[in-house]
Amino acid sequence: MYNFGIAIHGGAGTILKSKMTPEKERAYKDALSIALEAGYARLSSNGTALQAVEDAIEQLENSPLFNAGKGAVFNAVGQHEMDASIMDGKSLHAGAIAAVRNLKNPIKLAHKVLLHSDHVLLIGDGARQFASAFDIEFESDQYFHDELRYQQWQKIKGSENFQLDHAREDKKYLGTVGAVALDQHGNLAAGTSTGGMTNKKFGRVGDSPIIGAGNYANNNTCAISCTGSGEFLMRASTAYDISCRMEYKGLSLEDAAREAVMDRLTQIGGDGGIIGIDRQGNITMPFNCEGMYRASKNQQQTVIKIYKE
Ligand code: ASP
Repeated sequence: MYNFGIAIHGGAGTILKSKMTPEKERAYKDALSIALEAGYARLSSNGTALQAVEDAIEQLENSPLFNAGKGAVFNAVGQHEMDASIMDGKSLHAGAIAAVRNLKNPIKLAHKVLLHSDHVLLIGDGARQFASAFDIEFESDQYFHDELRYQQWQKIKGSENFQLDHAREDKKYLGTVGAVALDQHGNLAAGTSTGGMTNKKFGRVGDSPIIGAGNYANNNTCAISCTGSGEFLMRASTAYDISCRMEYKGLSLEDAAREAVMDRLTQIGGDGGIIGIDRQGNITMPFNCEGMYRASKNQQQTVIKIYKE
């Protein structure tokens, strides 16, 4: 049996202990713990890595604390357009959706694309049409209304600015959720889900639904989910970059992820972080900004952290 395990994130960015109340910190950690345990329970009962990733992300999407599903940020016209992707490290099959509104759990539709479509990425109205063949839940606009996100949008509404979640007001910053898992059979999977950036326009899509940029899994190397400035993560192909560094350079997951995030992504001016797991069950969660909501669990230990150590 493989050393199964799971890691999750709830976004990275300007997350400072000085700005956090003990209540808020507790709420974030509780929400991370619920998602972590949901994914881990699936793995312990011999479920697949893919299903564990979906289970964990579903919980994160259902929490208003994170920029995905309920809690997704507002775009320039006050809507919530969501992106998500999921990848199977065994078959290298992937499913993704982008710019879809009113989906309760975007990760579930991405998983349906993986399972039941010959395509990888479906967008907007077409993705909604595809969803109608399945038992996929939609919610009203009201369900996605979150006062904090609304106020974030009000501050930059009508301007040319756009902003990632967990942002300092003078900086463009980050949100998003993700999960990576190794199951008892040695299969890897990765998933990522996001509302993108506050005040985004023109159908902007970030790295999260782009296979190789914000999400990647390959049983020969690792499973990776990214969060951070999507334009940079796309240009650096960060998730695939980590896999390639392992495959071509023979690096460990930890070294490959450190090079990709701390060197490559940083050099081109990108902010953010990743979670990764390899076939031996090694887990790494590096980031180059102030904090990242993150957690991991295997048979040896459970970790839930927010700030830099
Ligand atoms: N990477 C996401 C995007 O650019 C946002 C984030 O991770 O906060 O859409």
